[in-house]
Amino acid sequence: MNQEPTRMPQRKRLASGQLLIDGKWRNASDGATVPTVDPTTEETITEVAKATLEDAESAVASARRAFEAGDWSRLHHEARAKILFRVADLLDERAEDFALREAMDMGMPYRDFLDVIMPHCSGLFRLFGGLAMHAMDGAYRATYEPHTRILTRREPLGVVAAITPFNFPLALTCSKVAPALAAGNTIVHKPASDTPLTALALAQVILDAGVPDGVYNLVTGPGGTLGDALVRHPLVDKIAFTGSTAVGQNIIRNGAATLKHTTMELGGKSPNIIFADADLDAAVQAAFWGIFWNKGEVCVAGSRLLVERPIYDEVVERLAALANAAVLGDPLDPRTQMGPLASKAEFDKVRQYVESGKASSARLVAGGDVRKIDGRGLFIEPTVFADATNELKISRDEIFGPVLPIIPFDGDEEAVRIANDTPYGLAAGIQTRDLSRALRLADRIAAGTVWINTWHKYHPNGPFGGYKMSGYGREQGAEALESYTQYKSIWANIA
Ligand code: NAP
Repeated sequence: MNQEPTRMPQRKRLASGQLLIDGKWRNASDGATVPTVDPTTEETITEVAKATLEDAESAVASARRAFEAGDWSRLHHEARAKILFRVADLLDERAEDFALREAMDMGMPYRDFLDVIMPHCSGLFRLFGGLAMHAMDGAYRATYEPHTRILTRREPLGVVAAITPFNFPLALTCSKVAPALAAGNTIVHKPASDTPLTALALAQVILDAGVPDGVYNLVTGPGGTLGDALVRHPLVDKIAFTGSTAVGQNIIRNGAATLKHTTMELGGKSPNIIFADADLDAAVQAAFWGIFWNKGEVCVAGSRLLVERPIYDEVVERLAALANAAVLGDPLDPRTQMGPLASKAEFDKVRQYVESGKASSARLVAGGDVRKIDGRGLFIEPTVFADATNELKISRDEIFGPVLPIIPFDGDEEAVRIANDTPYGLAAGIQTRDLSRALRLADRIAAGTVWINTWHKYHPNGPFGGYKMSGYGREQGAEALESYTQYKSIWANIA
């Protein structure tokens, strides 16, 4: 965000993407491929393998064999940690290639990726590499009988299928893969069909770092068939999922027959509350970037803005001015603040929400239209609706795009009531100079993350996840290891 302009990297045609199974790159068993499209140019970047059900079977079998072989699952923790540190270093070394892939595939500004996403991703491998050194330790416990002891031991779950969404594809893969590998699991990763390009480069990094063959497998293809096959497979122990609430619910249902472990990182409709005593310059910046960073394709976007009445008109005016001045453009251009939406399907969906807002009682104060840059691209203007109520469709649904309804309120009680009046509970923000009030309200808002006088802060150490329909389980932080391990109690008679 807000970087000094530097040189503009050039697009390049990438080699077609294959599947990684048992340490070898190969085509889909029937040779099928699908194009992945650059939303800025609307041209095909490259073809990517479309895995068959037979490929899913091979990938799971490979992960299972590798798990049972023990070259990873029983490897000494320090050796595992060293390899994870090597993954981190290789990610940093290849950062520009990853940034190019994410900019071309997802429309994320290249500089944002280098400044924010890549340090987070390599940081995840460093954190979990460190945790691998001791987090699997157990305990030696007394019982009622003086001659018996319980030895507790933490073990990996087995085969983890990681199913990831189209937004922040690398970060949301690393947040699963780093703890899963640290704990000794083996993995089959299925990235989103729209943005598979960084997954291919990550799989190569993992191979190059020395993770044994079969421990990490990558299959690309459609969620409804390929993803579903992983969810139902009896040899998969856990589904680590990030995506929409509707697909998450499906996965829980379909995984129930084989009693899958699941973590669910799902949708959000996060309230950002600005009180009249806030530092207005900072609060308006937090509100602007809270919704418009990565063109609103962020699960924790501040997608409902609640503003206290005494400052309401001023905040609306300032946000509209910022939105109207935002620089839309090629994500590779260092001057760009907002790129295109990631795919035509997302573009069409968000457009419908913009129309729904226009037809509602809310007042359009900025944006509201699509844009072409150099005659092409899936751009939607940063769009602000003032005088919204929390009952409107644009205030209730997760739009997942650059659309912000602003809702006025009076006082703490009304702010908390509106903030919590949503099925979701992923994130929230409180902008005020009164820290006591901020901490009191943070306790009362049902959300997995609460930002005070800021937005979009992340660190590998901070547990991340949802309340309510935004999911369960935590990624990042030492807490994440809980959902990739299980405890065993070994009873010993020492008489
Ligand atoms: P999505 O449509 O739910 O897809 C997510 C993943 O699930 C994709 O890989 C998809 O494959 C796969 N999938 C689809 N149907 C499946 C099925 N029946 N069985 C197994 N897998 C299936 O989500 P998205 O549109 O990519 O991502 C946006 C959503 O993710 C938003 O709701 C956003 O809030 C949420 N999100 C949450 C977080 C968080 O941390 N809480 C972070 C980022 C995003 P295909 O791509 O092939 O369809």
